[in-house]
Amino acid sequence: MIDVQQLQHAFRIGKRGQEKEVHVLKGIDFSVKEGEIVAIVGKSGSGKSTLLQIIAGFLQPNAGAVHMKHQNIAQLSEKERAAFRLKNFGFIFQNFQLLPGQNVAENIELPLKLRGESPVVRKKKVQDMLARVGLTEVAEHYPNELSGGQQQRVAIARALITDPPVILADEPTGSLDSQTEREILTFIQQLNEESNITFIMITHDDEVASIAHRILRMGDGLLLEAQHAI
Ligand code: ADP
Ligand code: MG
Repeated sequence: MIDVQQLQHAFRIGKRGQEKEVHVLKGIDFSVKEGEIVAIVGKSGSGKSTLLQIIAGFLQPNAGAVHMKHQNIAQLSEKERAAFRLKNFGFIFQNFQLLPGQNVAENIELPLKLRGESPVVRKKKVQDMLARVGLTEVAEHYPNELSGGQQQRVAIARALITDPPVILADEPTGSLDSQTEREILTFIQQLNEESNITFIMITHDDEVASIAHRILRMGDGLLLEAQHAI
């Protein structure tokens, strides 16, 4: 499904004239099969989010390739990357990133609007999704009226609404208590089993890695297969 080859990336940091390069990714190789849940673990600052940003096409790497659907995402133009992203990826973040001024149904509807779907299609899809994720009761609520677990459910529903083959999750349970974390992880596992959606999840948390089919560890700018999260 996704094949990452010899990915390298460095950031330039520091004042003008005194910049230095920080090599974050030094040659990352890995691939993800359709229907897999892959966890990428590693210390804070090890480059996990950078890797996810590159896969998602938000960031262009200095070198290397990200192949998916016979395309190299790393070599697409910014416009092409945005179109590819909207078609192929859903996102889940640690801090949910819901729009505070929009209710649950409107938040879930957003990617469909970006895609230019008609109001009739949007309404039907949102209603089906609300039922699927068990949020029909709170459809009219605003994010600040929901628990953390409910907010993350809304974010997952928003990620799923366009039927993307792949969901990219950056510390998806990082702001949840351990019981809610379990609930969300079970939910992700269920989605994966029911719909064969591929998940790439970044985490520094053992619990998250426990639902993964495969664990990869990031360290020293490289990614290696690991048996356990720690
Ligand atoms: P992780 O997600 O594993 O915590 P990140 O990918 O966020 O790691 O960051 C890896 C390293 O790259 C860190 O040292 C961070 O400070 C640096 N970095 C990340 N994004 C930028 C940026 N936009 N500009 C400069 N340095 C960055
Ligand atoms: Mg990060």
